[in-house]
Amino acid sequence: MAPVVAFIYAHPDDESFASACLIRSLADRGIRTVLLSATRGDAGRPGPLGPMTPEQLSAAREIELQTACDLLGVSAVKHLGLPDGKLAALDRAVLAEAAAEFLNETGASVVVTFPADGISGHPDHIAVHHAVNEAVLGGRCPHVQKLYYNLPFAGVKADEPSVLRLETAPCWKIKARALLAHRSQQFSVEKAFGPSAALLENKEFPYENFRLVWLRGEINPLRKEESVLDDLM
Ligand SMILES: [Zn+2]
Repeated sequence: MAPVVAFIYAHPDDESFASACLIRSLADRGIRTVLLSATRGDAGRPGPLGPMTPEQLSAAREIELQTACDLLGVSAVKHLGLPDGKLAALDRAVLAEAAAEFLNETGASVVVTFPADGISGHPDHIAVHHAVNEAVLGGRCPHVQKLYYNLPFAGVKADEPSVLRLETAPCWKIKARALLAHRSQQFSVEKAFGPSAALLENKEFPYENFRLVWLRGEINPLRKEESVLDDLM
């Protein structure tokens, strides 16, 4: 069976911040990628789009996410529409069940999500991390063989076992365009990556980094990682 790689995040734009180059590189190899977004990002600020109701922002962000996903070659996007900014207050079992259902209905064999600190410390990101862990490590997703966490862009050693370091140079412009597609989030994109006007030429983020944390029941396996598709059965 052809592998499916699933990305599970909290907000529209997390995929472009965290994994744009990985997603695009998989799509370029003909691999099906699927994205689950727990919220529609309606509690964020509309930035340059000006004042908006949460409903208007939610609709705008759904379109932005689809534009970014089209650029990245994501095969399918699902929104849970859970309350933005309040995932940590939800019963964890609800989010874990939704994650398991998504992974089972898409037949994903590889999953990528946030690490324990949510990368940015955002409570929604941390809630998603725990839910995906519970779904995958709890044995509810029989198709899933590998679980990865996003790592920060910097400070990861090249030869660290179980770490996949993906060069961003070949796809940086696509990543930049996906980030810019999230127009409502221009200010947070600029806070992380610098001015929009210079984003396409930015060379300060040479790698996207991921850690393999679970391989068919083995926790923190030590493997030399060349691709998220390595070692699939
Ligand atoms: Zn986020």
